[in-house]
Amino acid sequence: MTDHTKRGGACTPNTSIHCSVTNCAHHCENAQYCGLNAIQVGTHEANPAMDQCTDCQSFEKLS
Ligand code: SF4
Repeated sequence: MTDHTKRGGACTPNTSIHCSVTNCAHHCENAQYCGLNAIQVGTHEANPAMDQCTDCQSFEKLS
C-alpha cells in the first residue's frame, strides 16, 4: 500500500499508527495513517491525566 504526503513525497502507510493529523508532514494523505516506521509520544504535562495531555513528538509541520 503506497500513498503520498501533502508535499507529494511517497508515503507508505504504517497500519499500526492510525493518525488524523492531516497537516503533519508525515501523514499519508489518502489514508488515515502515519508514514513513519515508529513515532515518539510524550507529554507536556507534569502529571498527564487524559489523552489531551499527550503529544506526538514526531509531528513535523507542513511547510
Ligand atoms: S508523526 Fe505523529 S502527527 Fe505526524 S502523521 Fe505521524 S503519528 Fe501523525
